[in-house]
Amino acid sequence: MTAMDWTRITDLDIAGGTFLPGTAIETIRSAEAGAARAALFDFDGTLSLIRSGWVDVMVPMMVAILQELRTGESAAELTAVVTQFVYRLTGKQTIYQMIELAEQVRRRGGTPRDPLQYKHDYLDRLWEKIADRVRALEEGRARAEDYLVPGSLALLAALKARGLLIFVASGTDEKYAAREAELLGLTPYLDDKVYGAIDDYRNYSKRLVIRRIMAEHKLRPAELIGFGDGYVEIENIKEAGGAAIGVATDEPACREIDRWKRARLIMAGADAIVPNFAEHERLCAWMFAA
Ligand SMILES: [Mg+2]
Repeated sequence: MTAMDWTRITDLDIAGGTFLPGTAIETIRSAEAGAARAALFDFDGTLSLIRSGWVDVMVPMMVAILQELRTGESAAELTAVVTQFVYRLTGKQTIYQMIELAEQVRRRGGTPRDPLQYKHDYLDRLWEKIADRVRALEEGRARAEDYLVPGSLALLAALKARGLLIFVASGTDEKYAAREAELLGLTPYLDDKVYGAIDDYRNYSKRLVIRRIMAEHKLRPAELIGFGDGYVEIENIKEAGGAAIGVATDEPACREIDRWKRARLIMAGADAIVPNFAEHERLCAWMFAA
């Protein structure tokens, strides 16, 4: 799957599933989550919309850095190269996208900066875009619902009521993800800290979080269910034997299915695709039917 050209996948390449009657919930195969005891959520794009639009910050920044090397490649060509690896690495920690940027600089004869420095520059630029959103939440000018995928809180409450443990693992730095989860009112639903990227990046991954919570809570594979808008978490959940719900959010509105996310999530192994959690009751009824 790593050799896949993600930018060329369209929904035309993907065999679809079956829609639950009268809903936007597309089921690919039975989720068999009736025994679920724990749910793992990705954060950005799955629950939180605070960082929505990050791609439009990251890609132009990287294209500008590569353009400085004057290789003769056009802006469009460089954008294709960058978009390809940015999406391939989405869901992993941000540093991996920056490590690949450094590699692309090196490949073009340039001397890259420290990937951590690239990451800080990117976060500074992203902050310009999202600072108002965070402040509006802090000052009560915005409601949490304004920056949550629709139905998030109701789904978390329903899972909680069913007795599931709830975890969040993000590719965003842990300190930011934790703060943003707090601002969005998610913390009371969680059974652990928000897991996120750490400076010692080799010692964090969503795969490691899954292993850890499965060991700590003695979960069998069939007792885990995961929700994510990135292929990384869907792949990791399926690899661990859990059921995976692909959240093909068309950010920031999240009303329609994002066709491109959908295609990637199905290829990663998602058992069902939803545009948001507005139909969480139907989704739960289907997931837990077994
Ligand atoms: Mg995400």
